Amino acid sequence: MSESANCIFCKIIRGEIPSIKVYEDAQTLTFMDVCPASSGHALVISKAHASNLLEIAETDLLAVTLTVQRVARAIQKALAPDGMRVSQFNGAAAGQTVFHYHVHIIPMQEGQRTGSHGRESANPQELESLAARIRAALQS
Ligand code: 5GP
Ligand code: ZN
Repeated sequence: MSESANCIFCKIIRGEIPSIKVYEDAQTLTFMDVCPASSGHALVISKAHASNLLEIAETDLLAVTLTVQRVARAIQKALAPDGMRVSQFNGAAAGQTVFHYHVHIIPMQEGQRTGSHGRESANPQELESLAARIRAALQS
C-alpha cells in the first residue's frame, strides 16, 4: 500500500474527508487547521505526497512557498493580525504529527500567548467564516 493511501492530508486532497478550503491550485491546497493555535490558522500543503522538507520535490516546495506568501498576504488583508508565524515541522521529535509536508500560517496578536496547535477543535462555523474572509481577500 502506498504511503498516501492512509495519509490524512492525501484523504483531504482526494475529498475522502472534509476540510474547510481556502485556496487551491494545481500543486497546492490550503485549508483551515481543525485544531488551530490561533484564530485564522491555515495549513498549506503540497498535493503530491511527501513526508517532510527532506523528501519534497523542489517544484512542489517552490509551489507551496509561493502559496504560503499568497495566503499570508490574504490573511493580513482579511484579519489584520499584528504578526504571523510561519512554521513547519520535520519528524516526530520536532513535533510533526501529520507526515505529509505542510506549512502552518498562524496569525498572532500583540501580547498573545503562543497557542499549541492540534489540541482543541475549533467551532466549524467560526472556521468557515474565517475561511470566507480569507477567500474574499484572495479575490480582491
Ligand atoms: P504538525 O504535524 O505540523 O504538528 O501539525 C499537523 C496539524 O494538522 C495540526 O495543527 C492539526 O490540528 C492539523 N490536522 C490534523 N488532522 C487534521 C484534519 O483532519 N483536518 C484539518 N483541517 N487539520 C488537521
Ligand atoms: Zn499525504
